[in-house]
Amino acid sequence: MAEKGNHQDQRKPERKLCLTLKGLSKNFGSLAAVININLEVLQGERRAIIGANGAGKTTLFDLIGGQLRPSAGHVSFLDRDITRMRPFQRAHLGLTRTYQITNLFPSLSVLYNVILGVQALEKTKFVPCIPITSYGRFYDQAEELLDRLGLLDKKEELVQHLPYGEQRLIELAIALAGKPKLLLLDEPTSGLPAGESKELTKVLMALDPETTIIIVEHDMDVAFSVAERVTVLHLGEILAEGTTDEIKNNAEVQRVYLGEEEEDE
Ligand code: ATP
Repeated sequence: MAEKGNHQDQRKPERKLCLTLKGLSKNFGSLAAVININLEVLQGERRAIIGANGAGKTTLFDLIGGQLRPSAGHVSFLDRDITRMRPFQRAHLGLTRTYQITNLFPSLSVLYNVILGVQALEKTKFVPCIPITSYGRFYDQAEELLDRLGLLDKKEELVQHLPYGEQRLIELAIALAGKPKLLLLDEPTSGLPAGESKELTKVLMALDPETTIIIVEHDMDVAFSVAERVTVLHLGEILAEGTTDEIKNNAEVQRVYLGEEEEDE
C-alpha cells in the first residue's frame, strides 16, 4: 500500500494547483445552496469536504463536475477555465466523478462491466454479442484494473451476486480507467457495512499519489483517513479549512457539525 502522511499538511510549494474555485455560488430559486466558495486544491492532494445534511456538498460537487452551472463564479482545472464546459468535456481533461448510487449492469459479469467502462472512453463501438476476448486491449486494461483493486478472481461473476462493497470497487475501477487527474468521490462508502467500508478506505488510501482526490463523505473515519486537508461546509459556505488535526480540534466545527453528529447518535 502506498505511503500516505495522513493528518499532516503536505502542501509543499512545488505542488501546482489542480482545482481553483473562485466566488462560486449556486441558487435554486430563492435558496442559496452554495455561497461564494473560494477553494484551491493542489495536484496530488487528498481533500475531504464535510458538512451536515443540506450543507451544499452535493451541489458543490455538481458545480465542479459540470452537472450544474453556477449562478456566479468560476471553476478552473489545471489552469483552464472549465466553468462552461459540460461533464464529458471535463472528463476528457481528466476530471472524473463517481456517484453515491451504483451505476453498473447487474446482470453482466464484472469483467464486462469494466470493459464497457474502459471502451466508453474511446470511440470504438462495443458490440456485446462477440466474444469478450476479442476486445484485446480493453480486456487487458480491464483485467489490470481489476487486479489492482484485488477483484481479478471475481471477473467472471455477475455483478448482482457481489457484495455491495465490491460493486463500489468496480465503479472505482471504471473511474480509474480514464486515468483521472482529479477524482471526485461522492460518498464512496455510503450504504456499506463497517467491514466493507474499511476495506474500501484502504483501497482509496492506496490510490496513485499523483491522482488528486476530493471526497465527500459522511463517515468521519473514512474522510479523515483518506484526506490530508478538510473543508467544512455549513449552510452553503466554508466554515473552516485545514489539516485533519486542525479540523478535529476546531471548536466552531465541533459545535456546528461534529457535535451535532454526536447528538444524533
Ligand atoms: P446531504 O448531505 O443531505 O446530501 P448536501 O450537503 O449534499 O446534503 P445539497 O444536496 O447540496 O446538500 O443541498 C444544499 C441545499 O440545496 C439543500 O437545502 C437542498 O434542499 C437544496 N437543493 C439541492 N438541490 C436542489 C435542487 N435541485 N432544487 C432545489 N433545491 C435544491
